[in-house]
Amino acid sequence: MLLQSENWVEKEIELIKERGLYRKFRTIESIPSPQVKIEGIEMIMASSNNYLGLSGDQRLIDAAIKAIKSYGVGSTGSRLTTGNTVWHGRLEERLAQFKQEEAALVFSSGYLANVGVISSIAGKGDVILSDQLNHASLIDGCRLSKAKSVIYRHVDCKDLEEKLKHSQAYQRRFIVTDSVFSMDGNIAPLQEIVTLAKNYQAFVIVDDAHATGVIGENGRGASEHCNTEIDITIGTLSKAIGTEGGFVTGSKTMIEFLRNQARSFIFQTALPPGSIAATLKAIDIIETNRNLQERLHRWIHRLRNQLTDYGFDVRGDGTPIVPVVIGEADKAVQFSELLETEGVFAPAIRPPTVPEGESRIRMTVMAAYEEKQIKQICQAFYKAGKELGVI
Ligand code: PMP
Repeated sequence: MLLQSENWVEKEIELIKERGLYRKFRTIESIPSPQVKIEGIEMIMASSNNYLGLSGDQRLIDAAIKAIKSYGVGSTGSRLTTGNTVWHGRLEERLAQFKQEEAALVFSSGYLANVGVISSIAGKGDVILSDQLNHASLIDGCRLSKAKSVIYRHVDCKDLEEKLKHSQAYQRRFIVTDSVFSMDGNIAPLQEIVTLAKNYQAFVIVDDAHATGVIGENGRGASEHCNTEIDITIGTLSKAIGTEGGFVTGSKTMIEFLRNQARSFIFQTALPPGSIAATLKAIDIIETNRNLQERLHRWIHRLRNQLTDYGFDVRGDGTPIVPVVIGEADKAVQFSELLETEGVFAPAIRPPTVPEGESRIRMTVMAAYEEKQIKQICQAFYKAGKELGVI
């Protein structure tokens, strides 16, 4: 009986393999840093979300250990039952202050924050206008919401306006977009989006996952970078901040509503205190050490300039996500393998995540790189590019 029921699963796995979508783990065996050990081999990490190098920072580790010693390793329940500690309130206040918003609510991950926020504020009779390249968690939030989803062309405000014009019959209108797109590294035109939202009485919801801590004069993210006010900003603590968790910021009323309504908040176990203590330390470091961001942006420009000079198709808007388009999926995979033989770890991204013919190496940059690591990455790209006829 069991065998019979598993038979279809095996067939499904075969289909996944045939479509070239089979996924395997790679195992990291060292502390997060620019140089990591992957399955026994030392490599430069060129694709992690640890943009500011804080995931392995001793100050965060010490803060987490101290909190764990006094508060234990688990929160024991959801925030609304037994899991709410002094740490959670402190983090929410700190995040609201950092993002310069009235209030914040913390989730266990950015994914859960996106799903929970969108599905609780948009409902039947509403419309969500969603950028074509939004992150999967935003898309899943839209699907769960029971609102009508309308996709507008990527960062195309003309198309967005057209779709807003045709959405007047809906009860409420929401525009949902990433601020920095995760596979392209470009920044959404937030000023224009906010202006359109005002003209058509729509709410703007922005996923600031890849912007928090790295763009804006003080690293506050997209609204600071674009000098504009956003109704609801969602974010993650798992990228530049270097730890774990998701959050949403907005008005006090909105946060109160979400605390009572977002199912992925209500029914999840609260974040553990050690992780929060590390997050608080990370925000302090980001706010007081401008040199981390400066160093990150210096490396981003260096890498982009060098690879563009070599003749690569380098995408993105100067964010830590530096996608280098290779072309066909097989070639991008070969490219990534060649990079590995040169000691650089940066996986290939293939369809359906990116369009056909635009498979790429999605590189990300870390502030903690040394000059020699930037040079090694560039040399590895040059060698692989020549060998595969990409440049
Ligand atoms: N939004 C975007 C744009 C992301 O790239 C990610 C993570 N890949 C998330 C949300 C989800 O965040 P988390 O990993 O904290 O669940």
